[in-house]
Amino acid sequence: MDKLQTFERLESQVRGYSRSFPTVFATARGALLWDEEGREYLDFLSGAGTLNYGHNNLFIKKQLIAYLQQDGLVHGLDMASSAKKRFLETFEALILKPRGLEYKIQFPGPTGTNAVEAALKLSRKVTGRTTVVSFTNGFHGVTLGAVAVTGNTFFREGAGVSLNHTTFMPYDGYLGEGVDTLEYFRRFLADQSSGLDQPAAVIVETVQGEGGVNTASPAWLRGLESLCREFGILLIADDIQTGCGRTGSFFSFEEAGIAPDMVTLSKSLGGYGLPLSALLIRPDLDQWKPGEHSGTFRGNNLALVAAAEAVDHYWQDPGFSLEICRKSRLLRRRLEALCNRYPAALSVRGRGLIQGLVCAVPQHARRISEAAFAQGLVIETSGSEGQVVKLLPPLVIEESLLVKGAEILAESAARVVAAGTADLEEVMASQTTEVSR
Ligand SMILES: *Cc1c(COP(=O)(O)O)cnc(C)c1O
Repeated sequence: MDKLQTFERLESQVRGYSRSFPTVFATARGALLWDEEGREYLDFLSGAGTLNYGHNNLFIKKQLIAYLQQDGLVHGLDMASSAKKRFLETFEALILKPRGLEYKIQFPGPTGTNAVEAALKLSRKVTGRTTVVSFTNGFHGVTLGAVAVTGNTFFREGAGVSLNHTTFMPYDGYLGEGVDTLEYFRRFLADQSSGLDQPAAVIVETVQGEGGVNTASPAWLRGLESLCREFGILLIADDIQTGCGRTGSFFSFEEAGIAPDMVTLSKSLGGYGLPLSALLIRPDLDQWKPGEHSGTFRGNNLALVAAAEAVDHYWQDPGFSLEICRKSRLLRRRLEALCNRYPAALSVRGRGLIQGLVCAVPQHARRISEAAFAQGLVIETSGSEGQVVKLLPPLVIEESLLVKGAEILAESAARVVAAGTADLEEVMASQTTEVSR
């Protein structure tokens, strides 16, 4: 019996997550999923950060059902709608105003990569320059513009054409501790013979979600912002995975106290897992001509209803941020305890409720994910070699389930590491030879 026979027969080879989690999911609520056989799973993947408010969130569901019942406008191209009006007003009042931020909001097509494409296109249009700088291990989507600023060779090779007009710089920590990668970037900008064309923009993730949960320090982000100001380069924060509360604050860059010129949002923006993305634009940069960047599915009304309710319900009071921080401390302590038991094999990094368990033997991460799935925990890997088990529980997860997930993960990791000591010794031996060479 093969549960996935229909998918294997009919769905393209391109399918990915159904290979990592080979069952047919039927229902879901909060942090839990059930498959067609009624088996329960705990979700530490959350649609790669799309389900910050959990599956089928009750508050949002109520609004969606009411909107459908009253025949609220579902599709209207980018015409003005009550749903969009409520979202814009709520977002201004509860997210932008309290943070002293002023942005115009563009609704491109519904997925993250659409917001990235809009940001790249607008920064090139406004500056009249072509080069965009992005960072090692950055991930920004798989359409041509976005994949050109994505580091991973696997995605780049899939493009099938040469990916131009981008330059990569080392992310914070890429050249090891003690190397200030911004000094390197600064030298390239300041030297007329570095070969780096004056960039239109820099695009950056504060925590690299797909790239292996690498984190940029607040000081590094502030340094990047001042470098951009000094050289007249636009700063684009890609907050698609780390925004909407993932790191504790609504925007992931709040801790650093920076104000990017543009911000991309998607994934959890649609609140209920509905597709929605937005590009926040510094008002004077909003130089689009009407309809110049078009699309049939701009500002999906159902997703806007959900997005407005998510902001209204969760971001009125600072309690939600505190709750995320409390949960992330709890999770982090457990991960640190695990890593202390296996210091040669495992380490932890991350911010808020995006945490990465880094495996010294890259293949261990996949095995840990498989072992966890066998115990009912859905958790994915990330990083250049897939060496990082990435924890992305819903932000609204009950603490008891958070602990349960952390325990399944710890057990799975302990089993994989214990069974893989030979691999670990091999990796450590090769590192020693590299150093002594
Ligand atoms: C997921 C993601 C994207 C792309 O979003 P899609 O909806 O998959 O197109 C872009 N940037 C970051 C940081 C992401 O995590």
